[in-house]
Amino acid sequence: MNCIFCKIVAGEIPATIVGENDEAIAIADLNPMAPTHVLVLPRRHAPNLAVYRRERPGGLDAIFALASEFGEGCENGYRFVVNTGPDGGQTVDHLHVHVLGGRAMQWPPG
Ligand code: 5GP
Ligand code: ZN
Repeated sequence: MNCIFCKIVAGEIPATIVGENDEAIAIADLNPMAPTHVLVLPRRHAPNLAVYRRERPGGLDAIFALASEFGEGCENGYRFVVNTGPDGGQTVDHLHVHVLGGRAMQWPPG
């Protein structure tokens, strides 16, 4: 499968890995949109949340536990984002949670 995040999980292309657990890894986003911009992605490929939940019931807890480590490091708060599908702005079809922090976020998002 030609999935860039699967290749990062397999160590086939480089990434700055900032954390991991049995279920997921956390990497620095290549094009950060905030002072803290971490991506948390499951080791197992799934294109989106719906498929992941079906294939890995209970796995989300470990993903959000890892994401929370980075969110809690942002003293004034943070945002989790899961872009899904074309309208959601998803560009990499491997489930990932963005953790954004270190600046004030806007609402509503664009
Ligand atoms: P999406 O738009 O799918 O929610 O987010 C994909 C994210 O992955 C973007 O923020 C983009 O900067 C990041 N990204 C894309 N390719 C790479 C890569 O090869 N390495 C890393 N570290 N981040 C990537
Ligand atoms: Zn993948």
